[in-house]
Amino acid sequence: MALVSAKEMLTKAKAGKYAVGQFNINNLEWTKAILLTAQELNSPVILGVSEGAGKYMCGYKTVVGMVNGMLEELKITVPVALHLDHGSYDGALACIAAGFSSVMFDGSHYPIAENLEKTKELVGICDSKGISIEAEVGSIGGEEDGVVGAGECADPGECKQIADLGVTMLAAGIGNIHGKYPDNWAGLSFETLDAIQQKTGDMPLVLHGGTGIPEDMIKKAISLGVAKINVNTECQWAFQEATRKYIEEGKDKAGKGFDPRKLLAPGTEAIKATVKTKMELFGSVGKA
Ligand SMILES: [Zn+2]
Repeated sequence: MALVSAKEMLTKAKAGKYAVGQFNINNLEWTKAILLTAQELNSPVILGVSEGAGKYMCGYKTVVGMVNGMLEELKITVPVALHLDHGSYDGALACIAAGFSSVMFDGSHYPIAENLEKTKELVGICDSKGISIEAEVGSIGGEEDGVVGAGECADPGECKQIADLGVTMLAAGIGNIHGKYPDNWAGLSFETLDAIQQKTGDMPLVLHGGTGIPEDMIKKAISLGVAKINVNTECQWAFQEATRKYIEEGKDKAGKGFDPRKLLAPGTEAIKATVKTKMELFGSVGKA
């Protein structure tokens, strides 16, 4: 099956009270592990690519070529969207030209008027090509930004302004952050989420920073309109731990254990296990 826009899978998820996972990819192993798990569990899936990861993988065209090749060679039949994560305006245009089926334009660092203007332009372009578009209101920070205690909360009125532009899905800060949550994290602001959902109606909401949010909070967020949850760091930790174990056990020095196909296998399997756990938690299993 060819790449699809994320619109239909997220509309179904919002109506069915479950969420589709966005799992960020970094290389061939990551991509293969996520696609095979989605197929095995009959779940829709969104492959996330940050601008940095796109550069690392030799550009968006390389990513599109790799993903399209895998969809065919692995006989993937579940809906798969290839999505730019936290894109700039120019990055979004480059991904649209390269063949991505979905983009995020993160204008949350601009004043709201500029965010609205740039988002609106991109909505027009995406609509004409059948590509889904995610916008962001209320910056979602991360460890690197020195966030302590609580992430930013978006203004529900601004969320409605962006939603009314016709975006496919909306990321709004509700106290969530990227990366590891600090010990004194205040948790998700369900009050904010509820207010946003009431203003934006059927709009699928996106929860960034899915790593480390307790399961009961994830479930409550889904019940309040979150239909897409981004997971990145958790797959990185799973890969790191499994790779470390392989090397610490000296397996890379035994027989042909140095073969990259063997060296990277435990990490790849660990990503599969992480993705499976998340898809079960999000409720997307069997929803393809
Ligand atoms: Zn994010």
